[in-house]
Amino acid sequence: MDKRLSWFDEGAPKLRQVLDRLGLDDALPAGQDFYACPCCLVAYPREAVSGGLLTIEDVPPRSVGGRPLLLTCKRCNNTAGSDFDSHAATRANAEDFMRGRITGHTLPMTSHVDGIPLRGTAQWTDSGLQFVGVPKRNDPKVQAAHLVALDAYVESGDSRPNHSFTVHTRFDEARARISWIRAAYLAAFAALGWSYIFRGVMDPYRKQLQQPDVSVVPTYIFRDPNASVAVRRVLLVDRPDELRCVAVVMGEHTVFLPSLFRPRPCDELVEAFASRRAAGDRLSVTLDGKEVPWPRWATYFMD
Ligand SMILES: [Zn+2]
Repeated sequence: MDKRLSWFDEGAPKLRQVLDRLGLDDALPAGQDFYACPCCLVAYPREAVSGGLLTIEDVPPRSVGGRPLLLTCKRCNNTAGSDFDSHAATRANAEDFMRGRITGHTLPMTSHVDGIPLRGTAQWTDSGLQFVGVPKRNDPKVQAAHLVALDAYVESGDSRPNHSFTVHTRFDEARARISWIRAAYLAAFAALGWSYIFRGVMDPYRKQLQQPDVSVVPTYIFRDPNASVAVRRVLLVDRPDELRCVAVVMGEHTVFLPSLFRPRPCDELVEAFASRRAAGDRLSVTLDGKEVPWPRWATYFMD
């Protein structure tokens, strides 16, 4: 509760100050403090903290290694979990699995020997991939045939058995992407403040969160599978000029958002990046700019 109240008390006067500066001083009732959810911009009074309407949000989501960073409203926080973050987490788990990372995750898998399936679960252990058949998911006759075929290969010593595995996982790629865009938006807000997210170019990002099934914000996300998952950076890129942006690096994902200064709308920005993309989604250009510290809580640097 203390952390939420102190985050409210830091954000509310900054919000008032920025609205005043933008000539929107009548946007909030006078004589009382308000904090707006950065995702939906609904303003809440201080009692909303004790009422549970303003909640602590992890950025990026906890399920992909994030930590508490700021306040969002309960509704936005909860819907993001089911609409976007669960897809990002499922994708991350599946990718870790395919890369052979021992993460403790168990995934549903089907083993095929000579085309005969056996359904079960799989997990990486110190000694390799461990597959366990799950009897209730298999027809007993098919299971028996699978084991006979497997034994025949083991006995024959055939080094190239007709054996394959299929991992079963379900996630929506577009929604997983929105989860990372949302995390980048929130990290940029925490670092830079209300002045940044009140720019007109940032409106489509909030619209995207309300419309998960429509592509509202074309956004370039660079992925570096070799990056450490713990990397967190916010870069204010100012060169080359046409790629001015805020680059938010979270592990292997780097999300490029509109710049603080003379920002270009998201569709122009993504086109500018597209013209500089080389093989493997890498950029054939070096980005220069300033780094701002990754926020440990909302710092409102620009406010
Ligand atoms: Zn909200």
